[in-house]
Amino acid sequence: MRIEEKELILPTLYIIDRDGAVSTSDLIKELTAVFNPSGEDAEILKNRRDTKFSQKVRNLKSHRDSNGMGVYTNINASGKYTLTDEGKKYLHDNLVQVEYLFSNKFHYEEVIKAVSSISNSREKKRSVYVYSEDEMISEGKASERDSVVRKRSKRLREAAVEHYKKPDGKIYCEVCGFCFEDNYGEIGKDFIEIHHEDPVYQYSTDGFESYIAEAVLKLKPLCSNCHRMIHRSSKRPITIEELKKMIMR
Ligand SMILES: [Zn+2]
Ligand SMILES: [Zn+2]
Repeated sequence: MRIEEKELILPTLYIIDRDGAVSTSDLIKELTAVFNPSGEDAEILKNRRDTKFSQKVRNLKSHRDSNGMGVYTNINASGKYTLTDEGKKYLHDNLVQVEYLFSNKFHYEEVIKAVSSISNSREKKRSVYVYSEDEMISEGKASERDSVVRKRSKRLREAAVEHYKKPDGKIYCEVCGFCFEDNYGEIGKDFIEIHHEDPVYQYSTDGFESYIAEAVLKLKPLCSNCHRMIHRSSKRPITIEELKKMIMR
């Protein structure tokens, strides 16, 4: 699976907005950190230092008259990108979705699928629901987002708890095996935090009930300690597998 140049535009606008004026080499560094390209996009091009991925980031500039970057960005005197009002608006309309991709460490293919759904939603005239992790971590956490997303987040959380319950009717942390019910009794029954191992998003026009079975596979039950540790490391979460190896006893 390979990323398309136009799918890099929203993440690029996000970085420019966050960091101020940025150069192409800044962008290559930042976008590589977010996307963590693998497969064909990670291959080094013949006789060059570029990978296929970084070449696409460079093309954002060389193709800017045709790919849309000319509308969303300006190039300042030092050759760095800044946002136009149009660029700010486009980013603002999709900010929740892009922030979600940036604040997690998802698999490359899953990030491509998500960013392509978000980038194409305009053309297809349908919006994309992104189910952010905060709304699913614990029950009933207040949120400013619209109530459809909130209700669906709650439903996804319940579906995940049912899905990951063991035959004994209890739910355990995927990293350390902790069970709230075993430790705290009745008050701990069915309590767990839900971590997103991959982006959980959906076209608003697609049926939600049929989507649930697919979505729960991207959700992982974690105890509060392990979940905090996963999100503690620098800007980006570590993986469940990495955390398992770090446990000392
Ligand atoms: Zn744990
Ligand atoms: Zn998490």
